[in-house]
Amino acid sequence: MALPYCSQHERLFLQYQQAWMAFPAALITRIKTLYHRFPLPEFEVTEAPCDRCEAHEGPQETSDTPQ
Ligand SMILES: [Zn+2]
Repeated sequence: MALPYCSQHERLFLQYQQAWMAFPAALITRIKTLYHRFPLPEFEVTEAPCDRCEAHEGPQETSDTPQ
């Protein structure tokens, strides 16, 4: 299970929560270093468009209404 990460917005996708969260690029660098030493699928970081990327592409206007 790889880790989808958007380096543009510094957001990581959590599989178990099915949600994006802010995640510092410095920590991703550490995970990549770990993966280099221990090539486990859990540590594999893959570049992916996050929810903000998709919101940017979509025609819908962003709403500030809290849920
Ligand atoms: Zn993004």
